[in-house]
Parts: sequence; C-alpha cells; structure tokens
Amino acid sequence: MSDAAGNGGAVLWEELSSKQLAELPIGSTEQHAAHLPVNVDMLCCYEVAKGVSRLTGVPVLPPLAYGNSMAHAGWPGTVALRPDTFMKVLEELCGWVLRSGFRKIVILNGHLGNEQPMGLASSTFRFEHPEVRIKAVSWWDITPEIKQSVVSDVKGWGFHANDAETSMMLHLRPDLVHMEDARDETEASRDGFFRYFLREKTRTGATGNPLIASREKGERLYRMAVEALAAQIKEAFNEEPPLGQGF
Ligand SMILES: [Zn+2]
Repeated sequence: MSDAAGNGGAVLWEELSSKQLAELPIGSTEQHAAHLPVNVDMLCCYEVAKGVSRLTGVPVLPPLAYGNSMAHAGWPGTVALRPDTFMKVLEELCGWVLRSGFRKIVILNGHLGNEQPMGLASSTFRFEHPEVRIKAVSWWDITPEIKQSVVSDVKGWGFHANDAETSMMLHLRPDLVHMEDARDETEASRDGFFRYFLREKTRTGATGNPLIASREKGERLYRMAVEALAAQIKEAFNEEPPLGQGF
C-alpha cells in the first residue's frame, strides 16, 4: 500500500508519479447521531481509498476532514466549510497534486453534502486543466448495487448515520460505535415538498435505521466498494477520450 499520509512523508515520488494517478479522499466533520463519531465520512472514504491502493498501487493523499455540512447546522460536533470555500480548497489541492507530477486524480467522497460542490469543483478544474483526467465519485456511487444497499433503509432524500454508515463503522472501527445509543429514524428520512434541516426532522441526527446495522454488512459493503473501484481504476489507467486524442 502506498499511503502518503501514513509513512511520515517519505513518499517514493518516482514510484508514485509512474502511475500518474492519485486518490484524494474527502469527508466531513459533522454530527453522526449519538452512536457514531464525527469523523465517519472521512474515515469510510479514507479506508476505501487505502483498500484500493493495496490492490492497485495508487497512492492516497491525506484526506480532507472538512466539507459542506450546512444541513447539519445546529448540532454540536459539526465543523464545516462554506460550499464556495470548499470548492476553492478542492481546486487548490488538485492544483498542487498536478504540480507534484500526477496527471490523473480520483476524488473519493464520503459525505453526501459534498456531492454538488465536488461536482462543480472537478468540472471547473477540468475546464482549467483539459490535459488532466479527473474523476469525482462518492463511495456509495461506485456501483448501482452499493448505492441500493446504502439507501435501502431510507424513505426520502438522504441517508445519515444509517444502517450503511453504521455497518461500515462496525467493520472498520467497532471501538467507535455505541450501538446502545442508536435509534430508528426511518421516518426522519422523509422530506416534505420543501427540504428541511436535519434538526427539523430527526431527534437524534440520524436518518435511516442504524438498529439493523451489522459488521457483516459493513464488511461486504467495504469489500464491494474497494474491489469495484480498484477494477475501474485499473481499466482507466490507459483510457483515451471516446473519440481519441486530438478532438
Ligand atoms: Zn456520514
């Protein structure tokens, strides 16, 4: 595994730049109800990125711990960036990755609220650096099967501290999970005609049902995400634009 964050900075630049591809995990620091810690989103995508690195040799950059968490305002433990700041941070980080010799970047996201600014930031970066290949994906969107599992306990828009996130944490860091404090918030995942802040629709901060979570489900989800993304990245190493170079 090439873990740029975990080896004290002794990065083997020759080995890394030969792949020309780097993974950048991005998460959030935000409330995850009473049964999960505030770093769930960062931890999940960072662990998936490291798993992919083990299978592909692609280096993993240190994860970004802050994201767009406006929907969680009013809950303690939420520390965030404004969406425009977050986009700027992403664009600047990608710029430095480019200056380090990489030509392909995979941003691996672990927080639902990051999806829109992440999409805009990566599109803007591609516009400004058309020679660079950039992919921005959330770990639950790696395949439709993963997405289906992740939202299976949710009735409306959004999932949070739910079955999937709790299961992932039971697999990755069971020492940080307090199942005795978990509550069923399936009904809280419903929205009205308008969208609402979490504090307006959930008592605990979760949406979905963490009570049905299990370590086995988490291990399965984790393995599906790692294996699928590793296979996609291996195939993309030598990918050309659909109409070839020069168009
Ligand atoms: Zn989360």
